[in-house]
Amino acid sequence: MDPEITRRGLLLVLSSPSGAGKTSIARALLDSDPNLSLSVSVTTRPMRAGERDGVDYDFIGKAEFQSLVERGALIEHAEVFGNHYGTPRAPVEDALTAGRDMLFDIDWQGTQQISEGLTEDIVTVFVLPPSTDELEKRLRGRALDSEDVIRRRMAKSADEMSHYREYQYVLVNRALDESVYAVRAILTAERLKRRRQHGLVDFVNRLRRESGG
Ligand code: 5GP
Repeated sequence: MDPEITRRGLLLVLSSPSGAGKTSIARALLDSDPNLSLSVSVTTRPMRAGERDGVDYDFIGKAEFQSLVERGALIEHAEVFGNHYGTPRAPVEDALTAGRDMLFDIDWQGTQQISEGLTEDIVTVFVLPPSTDELEKRLRGRALDSEDVIRRRMAKSADEMSHYREYQYVLVNRALDESVYAVRAILTAERLKRRRQHGLVDFVNRLRRESGG
């Protein structure tokens, strides 16, 4: 984009039932796009093997979570599988103002809450698995959760999937590279929306002057 033209950042939300492959899509996007950063949520859920505190989540206790809610420091929060999750407000507001885009890996409850306040800034994508068999295979393949948790996540996925209607874009994750390509295309198009771009009037006027118009 021309330096004379600036824009406010946008919030790219990816939601899906657990195991649909959303996290892999998110990682690939973040690795390839310097203007996109991940919104690191706070959670009361115990850390899983391979996760890093402050990178995947900020892992905090229930009392601290409650205090963040009371202070209005979370832009949204929700309970998922008995644990609390929330999005810190300050990094989001800073990014929007600075014209940086943020990626959110949050569920439909959080998406609804953010949509209410930041309607103009939010771009929402729902990721569906290609089949229930594939969903189960991916959940088991991760081998991160106990059998009981896997069963609960499977049971919940039907309910979660019914929320695809609330999203602007829906994609079936058949192959990772195709899905990443699709979300990149969405991001590119959304960044170029005329209403997001500031300075177009001056830019076009200059072009017109220079071309003798
Ligand atoms: P997991 O425990 O597998 O990392 O995440 C469980 C679910 O919580 C996922 O659907 C994930 O998108 C959602 N989640 C993670 N962080 C947040 C958050 O800050 N807010 C909301 N509403 N959901 C979140």
